[in-house]
Formats: sequence, structure tokens, C-alpha cells
Amino acid sequence: MAEKFVYAFGGGSAEGRGDQKELLGGKGAGLAEMAGLGIPVPPGFTVTTDVCKHYHAHAESYPPELKKEFEDHLRAIETQLGRGFGDPGKPLLVSVRSGAATSMPGMMDTILNLGLNDAIVEAEIARGIDARFLRDCYRRLLSMYGDVVLGVSKHEFEAVIKRAREREGVATDPEISAAGLAQVIREGHEILEQHGKPFPQDPMAQIWGAVGAVFESWNNKRAIEYRRIHHLSGAGGTAVNVQAMVFGNRGFDCATGVAFTRNPSTGEKKLFGEFLVNAQGEDVVAGIRTPQVIAPGPGGPGLGKDFPDAYQGLLDVAARLETHRHDMQDLEFTIEAGQLYMLQTRSGKRSGPASVRIAVDMVEEGLIDRREALRRAEPNHLVQMLAPVFDVAEKAAAVKAGRLLATGLPAGPGAASGRIALTAERAAEMAKTGPVILVRDETSPEDIVGMYASVGILTSRGGMTSHAAVVARGMGKPCIVGAGSLVVDEPAGELRVAGQILREGDQLSMDGTSGEVLSGALAPRDSEVIQVMIEGRREVRSRSVDCFETILSWADDERRMQVWANADTPTDARVARTFGAQGIGLCRTEHMFFDADRIAWVRRMILADGLEGRKAALAKLLPEQQSDFKGILTAMEGLPVTIRLLDPPLHEFLPHEDKQLEQLAEQMKVSPATLRQKAESLAESNPMLGHRGCRLGLTAPDIYEMQVEAIARAACGLKLAGIDARPEIMMPLVGTEREMEVLRQLTMRVLARVFEDVGTTVDIPIGTMIEVPRAALVAEQIARHADFFSFGTNDLTQMTFGYSRDDVGKFLPEYLEQGLLPVDPFASVDVTGVGQLVEWATQRGRTTKTKLKVGVCGEHGGDPKSIVFFDGVGLDYVSCSPYRVPIARLSAARATLGAGPGGGD
Ligand code: PEP
Ligand code: MG
Repeated sequence: MAEKFVYAFGGGSAEGRGDQKELLGGKGAGLAEMAGLGIPVPPGFTVTTDVCKHYHAHAESYPPELKKEFEDHLRAIETQLGRGFGDPGKPLLVSVRSGAATSMPGMMDTILNLGLNDAIVEAEIARGIDARFLRDCYRRLLSMYGDVVLGVSKHEFEAVIKRAREREGVATDPEISAAGLAQVIREGHEILEQHGKPFPQDPMAQIWGAVGAVFESWNNKRAIEYRRIHHLSGAGGTAVNVQAMVFGNRGFDCATGVAFTRNPSTGEKKLFGEFLVNAQGEDVVAGIRTPQVIAPGPGGPGLGKDFPDAYQGLLDVAARLETHRHDMQDLEFTIEAGQLYMLQTRSGKRSGPASVRIAVDMVEEGLIDRREALRRAEPNHLVQMLAPVFDVAEKAAAVKAGRLLATGLPAGPGAASGRIALTAERAAEMAKTGPVILVRDETSPEDIVGMYASVGILTSRGGMTSHAAVVARGMGKPCIVGAGSLVVDEPAGELRVAGQILREGDQLSMDGTSGEVLSGALAPRDSEVIQVMIEGRREVRSRSVDCFETILSWADDERRMQVWANADTPTDARVARTFGAQGIGLCRTEHMFFDADRIAWVRRMILADGLEGRKAALAKLLPEQQSDFKGILTAMEGLPVTIRLLDPPLHEFLPHEDKQLEQLAEQMKVSPATLRQKAESLAESNPMLGHRGCRLGLTAPDIYEMQVEAIARAACGLKLAGIDARPEIMMPLVGTEREMEVLRQLTMRVLARVFEDVGTTVDIPIGTMIEVPRAALVAEQIARHADFFSFGTNDLTQMTFGYSRDDVGKFLPEYLEQGLLPVDPFASVDVTGVGQLVEWATQRGRTTKTKLKVGVCGEHGGDPKSIVFFDGVGLDYVSCSPYRVPIARLSAARATLGAGPGGGD
């Protein structure tokens, strides 16, 4: 059978299906689905993504069979509507729109009103069709075709329409007269002719030109950039949708709009969207006119009041599509002469809080099951829910002090404070030295890199579905749009608002949840989730916090791996526990050494000349360490606490300034010169590979002995007080079997001594970190002396690549830029290299001890992609920073479900 390249839809049926997104693109599949459900969709057809692939693989040419199939389908629309494409007697007008399998808002191009030419416009007017309407359609066609197909900047056409408004002294395009539009058309033709690219009068030439432009746009810079940022491969290609036009700009009983079936910022189940009366599609998304909201509430104006039948129809369509597609939809519609037509449905982009709430609500409504909810709620959505907000009182004080500059539409939740950048390029540049807020009239796909670099995005124009709003929500950035009182004067490098002039580089604060823009800096503070869960402020609890907890409890039912936390203080341990940590995977004891009243004793211990001085210092430190451990073990009562013995090179603890050194010399009753000499003798050329980790414990055992004693005494004391303390002792930087063997003996000796002294015992497992490649290679031998392994993937990455953790910043950005590395291996585990060591060591360790407990405590323990990998190689737990615990819980569940790390969009 010959391959089929074109699929019809409309008139109550469709050749394609809603699940054929790869072949028909998202838009084509949505149209086929709606048509199949009998939802009113203007008739049309979809040219498949296979044609796009063929086009790019065969020197920009089409499969030979395409032409006939395409024309047959065009004929079918003509027959259905009783019109002819290019027929001056009864012309059919069509739109040509792109549609890839994954939606790329604003990335690809659309052309409306194809099929018009000078003769057809005149013939229609002669027949009595409204001249204003026809010319409005034609001038739009000229500018869209000029921009997308002929490569003439749309700004040239915008200047023409702006002049027309000024000539007639009107504020908006629909007010321009028919004669004024005739002039706009003449000038439009002139622009194209001046560029040597006259507008094709032959409608068939127009339609093929438009189809080619869509396929071309698959490979334009902004589409490639979008795919790069969202990690989409370029393999799919785009489909092309050709569809009979319906007109939202045919008069004041016409409109066009976009709607989400639920609120995309909060997730609330309420139709949410905007429309413009007497306008065509791109007017809404382009943000040129600020649209009306669909349902602002009882009594106000809105779609329900202006177009009651169409509004009811839209509610019905929304409900049917949600029931059918089991997801929140983003709809495009047009109302012509009061009649509703649907032009698009797709899964709607939403903020993190909205995503979680919609997933939980849909389970409760019976639309999806819990596992599906876990697939939809992505780790990044939880990250957004933990993102900062402004303190209510501080913001109110700032407002009272006259710092409120403007209020716009709250398009992306979250608080941000940073310096003003007025262009995307400047934003990207300035972001290198601190947070930046990008302020524009409106954004366009060219701004994507600057948007990515900014902490917040603010526009003076546009609505909740403008480019800025949609893209910012997808990126999880705070965003305010339509702040109409801002005057963005890019050439002058300034922003004028509320009688003030702010310059590029000045501080600005924005609350994307409320839409408020404030001058100056305002420190963002903890999110609602953190306020409720960690700070115990129950009065701010909302549905959003409930949903956050619900989704995590469902994650716990699914996941195989445990989630532990890295915490060094009782406070951190409590945060971790509140977020659901099942243990402490890494307590870095050195952090305790930096405490103001201990550091002097630590320094004395290090610099002591002779055993006596050293022992005296250690004796001072022992009770301090013991009380540290008591605190953290109490906070984690009943759960394991993995305490790592001292790791960093000793000279890190020494004073770096002369004054401190002199003070210390005085305390120790030695001369500053002697002390300086001793300190210098400890300096190393390569401390990361030097005298650190267990090498310290083995060459100066009294330090580790003191620490083990402190742990044992703390645990026994707690046990006697009826508290279930569960410490585990972990050795850093082990590389050989013998190291581990000796360390174990040392530890056991001290434990036995303390147990005897205190008169009780506690079961304290002794394990090791695996962070030196050699340790991974000989894991089978090391496991003979270890009760558990914990991968220190920070050091393991450092030593496997040979990249210094502290110096990688010097070349990594360039490496990423040049594609020499796909991602930062310190952020997401290098599965192909470091991952092999992790997998090997886990397997080899378990050949020695089948039940060996294995976890990870490097930064990768909180990274969703790495978590999927760790699940795959059979680790028992991941340990991450306390605030990553919720993210790790969800990621671990997604790993079990095979849902991937998420975040690919
Ligand atoms: C590691 O190396 O991964 C680790 C957790 O230890 P640190 O970061 O303290 O070196
Ligand atoms: Mg380490």
C-alpha cells in the first residue's frame, strides 16, 4: 500500500486519531481527536511529520505522491463548504500552521487567510462583503506571508499599521477604516516589491510557499534553541495543518481567544482564559492588545455575558476534552457570528504548583490513577513549590513606603529580586554577576536565552497567554505581564513608571504570584510549603500545601529506594525529618569544628608540638563533639545517623590572617614565627589528593579515637536515657582494604572501651565511603571490613575525571558550550564513566556481603536524573540536602515506575 501523507479532519469525522502525535504533530492529533468527537472544528487536513523528514533528507523536496494527495484533500474541503480555493466567485480561505509532536510555543509559524489576492478581494467587495473585514484579512496575509515566507521583517508591516492608526487618530486596529486599510495594503505590496519579493497572486503558489516555510522553520535558529534548552531531539519534524478559515475579525459578534480548562498558575478547576472581540488569533498571543478575561466573576463583563451560547459551548467542550484526554487542556477558539469553533487543543503548560494540584485533583475526580499523577508531577514542580516568596509584612511596608511601581498580570508564581536588564542579550551578560530581571514590552522567541538567564521576567504588554507568560511558566520563573504603566525605553536604557526613572542595572523586585512590581531589592523568603511544614505556620496552609504532601505520600507508597539526608546539625536534621528523610546519610563532622568556641581548640590540636598539647586539645573537643552527636541523634531518634569521621586536610582549619595567627600563638604560648613555620609545613601543593580523609585517621589516630569515643558516649548516654540512638560510623576516602581493616580495628577497640566504661552497648555499624576509584575497583575486598558503602560521588567524580572540584568552573562552561560534555558531571552523575564504578562496586561489594547496604551521599543524591540511575543499579538509599528530600522522594517513585527523571518538557 502506498504511504499516506495527508489526513483529513472536520465535519464530524477524521482520518487520523488523537494518539498519533508523532505522525500528525500535537496540533493535528488534537484536531483529529476533536473532529472525531463531533466538536465543531473547521474542516482541514494534516500533512504528516514524515513529509518534513523527507523534505530535509531530500534537498528540500517533497515525496512525488504528495501533490495529488494534498490537492485531493483541498478539493474535499471545497466540496464540503461549497467554496473554491482561488475562486473569485466564492473563495475558500485557509490557514497553514505548523505542529510538532511536542508543542513549541511561538517557535514555529502560522499563516492565516491564504487564498486572497487583489482580484478576489475586489470581487468580494463588489458582491457586498464588508470591505473593512476583507482588507483586514488581506493586510494580515501580506504581513504574515512577508514575514514567514518571504523573510521581510514584520516590523516593517507594523510600522505601516501604526501610521494608519495615527493618520486616523484611533487607538486600535479594528477602528481603522476600510479606506485606511486599502492604503495599508498598498504600502504592504510596496514593501514586498522593494525587497524584490512581490506577493504571489496565485493562491496555489501561496499555499505551497506557506507549507515550505513551515518545514523550513523546523530548522530555524529559535526552534533549534528551544529544542536544545528543553532537551528535545530534532528527529521528529513538524506536521503542517491546512484548515478552512473561520473569522473572529468579521465584526463585533465575532471573537477569538485561548482558554485553559483549569488555572495554569494555581491549578484551580475553573475555565481560565482570554478573548478579544473582532480579532484574529495572533492578536491574543502577540500581546498587542490586552485581552479580556473569559470569566472574571459574577456581574462583570466577560465571554459569558457577551457570547452566552459560545461560552456555554466552550464549557462543554472543556469538560468533554478533559474527560477524554484526562488532562488539563489549552484551547484555541474562534467565534464567528456567535458560533463557536475550536482550532486547537493540547495539554496545557502549567506552573509547578498547578501541576501538582491538577494531578492530585484529577485522581480525586477519578480521571487518572495515583501512578499517573506521579508521572505528571515532576521533581521540578516541587522545586518551584519550595521557591521563595516575599514576606507579607515586608512587602506591605514597601508598598506603604511608595515602592509599588505597577501591578500586572501574575503570569508565573514566585518572588524575585534582581537588577533590571532591558534586552535579552544584556540579561544573559549581566546574569554572570548576579540575579537579573528581564524587563521588556513583550518577549519573542529570540529572547529565550536571556529569559533563561533571568530570575524573573516582566513585560509591559501581553496577557496570561503571551509568549513571556507561557515560556516563563514552562521554565518555572516568576513572571508578570501586561504591566501597562511601564514605559520600557530600550534605546535610552531606562524604565519609566509611576513618575520615576529606573536605569538598567537598578534593583527591582517582583511578585509573580500577585503581579506586583516594586522598586529596590526585597529579600525573597520561604515558600508557603516551607512556612507550613518547617516553620509550623499552620494559618497559611492552603490546598497547594495539602497537594504537595499528598503527592509525596503517594510517592512513598511506590518507591523502592529510601531517601536520607545530609545534615550536620540538629536543625538540619529536623528539617530533613519533617520532609520525610528516613535517616542521615552524611553528617560531616568537620563542620562542627568551625564553631566559634571550638576552632581555637581545633587549631591547638593541629599545631600542638608533642603529644601532650595535642591530647589536651582533644580532651577539650571530646565533650563538645559528644554534645553535637547527642543533638543530632536525638533529632533523628529511631533512624540511622551516618557520622563521617574527619575528612578535610588539616590546614583548612588554620588561621589565614596574621592577626589570628598571632592571637593563637599567644594562647598557645609559642612565638608567632614558630607557629607560622608549623602552619607552613602543613601546606600541600594538592590538598585534595593529599593528607586528608582516612589518611589523617591512620597517621594521627587520636583524632578519630576522640570522635569514635564521642559518638559511642553520646549513643550510650541516650540509650540509658531511653532514647533510641542509631549512629553509624563512616570512613572517608578509603582506597585500600588494609586502610579499612585498620580503621575498623581502631573503631572496635574504642567502642569496646567506652561500652565497658559506660556499662552498656549500642550496635554501631562501621562502613566506608566509596569515593576513590581504587576503592570502587577493589570493593569486594573492602566489603570484608565494611558494614555498608556510601558513594561519595563528589570525590568519585573529581578523581575519575581528574577534574578538581574547586577549579572546574574555569573550563566547564566552555566545555558545555562546545558540547565536549553533555552536562556538568558534578550536578548529574556521569552514567557512562563514574556510573560504571558505582555499578561495579555495588555488585562486587555484594558478592562479599549479599545484604551489604549501599547508598550515595554526594550531591548527585538529590538530582532526579542521577536518582533514576541509582535506582537502576540497586542502591538502597540516596542521601541529599534536607530541602531536596521531597524531590528525591518523588524522583525515587518515578524511577520505580519507569517514569524517567522528568523535566524534559
Ligand atoms: C563526596 O565526596 O561525594 C562527599 C559526599 O564528600 P565531600 O563532599 O564532603 O567530600
Ligand atoms: Mg568526599
